[in-house]
Amino acid sequence: MKVLANDGISSSGIKALEKGGFEVITTKVAQEQVANYINSNDVSVLLVRSATKVREDIIDNCPGLKIIGRGGVGMDNIDVDYARSKGKHVINTPASSSESVAELVFGHLFNGVRFLHDSNRNMPLEGDSNFEGLKKAYANGIELRGKTLGIIGFGRIGQAVAKIALGLGMRVIAADKFLGKAEIKVDFYNGQFINVEILTEPMEDLFKHSDFITLHVPAQENGYVIDVAELNAMKDNVGIINASRGGIINEVALIEALDSGKVLFAGLDVFEEEPTPAVQVLMHPKISLTPHIGAATLEAQDRIGTELADQIISLLKV
Ligand code: NAD
Repeated sequence: MKVLANDGISSSGIKALEKGGFEVITTKVAQEQVANYINSNDVSVLLVRSATKVREDIIDNCPGLKIIGRGGVGMDNIDVDYARSKGKHVINTPASSSESVAELVFGHLFNGVRFLHDSNRNMPLEGDSNFEGLKKAYANGIELRGKTLGIIGFGRIGQAVAKIALGLGMRVIAADKFLGKAEIKVDFYNGQFINVEILTEPMEDLFKHSDFITLHVPAQENGYVIDVAELNAMKDNVGIINASRGGIINEVALIEALDSGKVLFAGLDVFEEEPTPAVQVLMHPKISLTPHIGAATLEAQDRIGTELADQIISLLKV
C-alpha cells in the first residue's frame, strides 16, 4: 500500500512505515493535482501538515483513499466530519509537538523582553558609530522571573508552557473556556518533580494581572479571541505571544496597540495571512516573527512521524 506524505515526513516515520510494509512517496504534489495523483498511483493514505488542504473535492474524488493523516494538531485544513461521513479514517498527532511549541513561546518571550528580534536586525556594521545608541535603545530589558504569565487555552500546549514558566520562577494565571483546573507536573529531569494544581480564572482577571499573555486555543468559529476590547482590558506594557492559530488576534488592533505603546511587544508564529503575513506585521519593529514553525523541531517531527506510522499500521493491519 502507498502513503503520499505531501508535506513531508520524518525519516523515522518513513522507516516505521516501510517496516510495516508501506511504500512512502514524498514527492510534493501541487494542491490541484492531489486527487488525480492519489487515483493514478493507488495511494491509500494521504499525510499532510498544514500546507495541503483536504477538502470535499479530494474526499469525493478519491474512493480508494482510506486514511487522511495530519502530522500535528489543528485539523482546520481538513474537512474532518465530511471525510469521516464518507468512511475515511482521519488521524492526527495531538501531543507530539506540545513541548516544541511551548519552547518557541519562550523564544519569543525572551526576544520581546530583551529586544533580540530588533537588535539582530540593527547591529552596527564596521565603522558605524551607532553602537552606543543601540545599547541605549535596548537598555530597558525586563526579567521574566517574578512576572505573571497569562495563558489563554490551558490544554496540552498551555500546560507545557506553564511548566516552563514555573521553572523560570514566573507566576502563572490560566483561562480556559471549558477546563476548570489542571495538575501540572514540573519535571526537573534529575528524577525530581513537583505537582502544581492550577485553577483556571475568568479572562477579565487574566487580562488585569498578566505581564505577558500567550494564546493556546484552537481556531475559533466566532471571531477573534483578542480584539480591541480585550487589548484595552490588559495591563499597560503587556507582551503578547500567539503560536496557536492566525485569526485568534485581530492584527490591525494589535498593531494599533503596539504603536500607541499599550502593548510592549508581540511574538507571532501564526498570522491572519499565511504564508505571507501583512506587510505592517512583517515590518513592525516590536514584533518578533517566525513562519509557523512551532512544531518544527527534530524531536517533534520524529514523534509525529512514528506516531502517524503506528496509527496507520494498526488501522490497516498490514
Ligand atoms: P488543546 O485542545 O489541548 O487545548 C486547547 C484548549 O483551549 C482547550 O483546553 C480548550 O478548552 C481551550 N479553548 C478553546 N477555545 C477557547 C477560548 N475561546 N477561550 C479559552 N480557551 C479556549 O490544544 P493544544 O494541543 O494545546 O493546541 C493549541 C493550539 O496550538 C491549537 O490551535 C493548535 O492548532 C496550535 N498549534 C500550533 C502549532 C504551531 O506550529 N504554532 C503547533 C501545534 C499546535
